[in-house]
Formats: sequence, C-alpha cells, structure tokens
Amino acid sequence: MSLKIVEAGFPVLRQVARPLRPEEIRSAPIARLIEKMWQAMRAAPGVGLAAPQIGESLQLAVIEDRPEYQEGLDAAELAARGRVPVPFHVIINPRLTIVDPGPAEFFEGCLSVPNYLALVPRARAVRVDALDHEANPITIEAQGWYARILQHEIDHLGGTLYVDRMQSRTFTTAAAFAEARQQGQARQQGTGGNPD
Ligand code: ZN
Repeated sequence: MSLKIVEAGFPVLRQVARPLRPEEIRSAPIARLIEKMWQAMRAAPGVGLAAPQIGESLQLAVIEDRPEYQEGLDAAELAARGRVPVPFHVIINPRLTIVDPGPAEFFEGCLSVPNYLALVPRARAVRVDALDHEANPITIEAQGWYARILQHEIDHLGGTLYVDRMQSRTFTTAAAFAEARQQGQARQQGTGGNPD
C-alpha cells in the first residue's frame, strides 16, 4: 500500500505536533501507523519520515538509511558526510541536544518539498532523548548524516522545514543539480541524499 505524503503548503507541516502518551504508543492504532509510515518511507524511498508528513500531527518519526541507498555514492562522499547505514527505528517525543554545532554543510531534500535540494547547515553531532515504539526511553548519540536525518525529522515535529534553514541562493531543482554535477560544475557538492 502507499500512503500519500503531504507536501509544503499544507498547514499540518507547520504545526507543532502533539506528544504521545506511553499507553497510546503501545496501542494498536499507533503500531499500525508506524507500519504504514515504514512502508511509505520505503516506497518513496526516503531515509526518514515524520508523522506530520502523512497528515498526523504527532511527535513520531521513523528512520532507516539502508546500505543499498548508499551504493551510488563513492567512498569519499560517504566519508565526507559521515554516512553509514542506520537500521530502522522509531523516535517518539524526541528532545534534541546539540553536541557539536559544526556546522556541516551539505545539500539535502525533503519528500514534502519534492524534486528540490538546497545546502543546509546542520550540527555535526547531536544527542536525542526519546521513546521507542514500546515507549521505552532511549538515548541516541549520532554524528554525520545520521545526525542530519535526526535534525531534519525533529524539525518536522516542530513545524519547521529545511527551507527555513537553507542557504536560499543554493536552492535548486534536483534535475539542475544532477546536470551541474555531471558537468563538473558542482564544486564539492556531491549528491544530495534525502533526509526525508
Ligand atoms: Zn522532510
């Protein structure tokens, strides 16, 4: 099944999402929501998806950076981004702490702003305190691309999109970006990747 992903302009993407209570997290409807979001994220494909992106204003996001998503990137690009595979997991009611503000500057995109990319400065390392899919407290220490994904998803839960943080003059269509890269005009931009 596919789930429609909400695109920029819909108010739900600009709302602060509601936290979930532990008993809600353990309920069947939330388990079904997580399953649906996982399917939608894989179908897109994306490396993260926040509940507001499917129209649910809840403090919940799913993340998964599969090894196959990284096959098209060369080793230098992966190393520069600090990008390594991240297994599927859920974050609920997350609290973000900046560990290393950086910034790291790379192009990123968003499933809710499809077919565009821009340079977005992000913290290099973060800590996230959250609940998992069973409402157990978890602490995530992340750096590199995983830290970027977490920042992007947690932004969604607060009604923020990457366009609020991007260097606006770098805003580009994915097609123009690919063409520039192919022509070697992209300096050290590398591929964008889709934090979600
Ligand atoms: Zn996004």
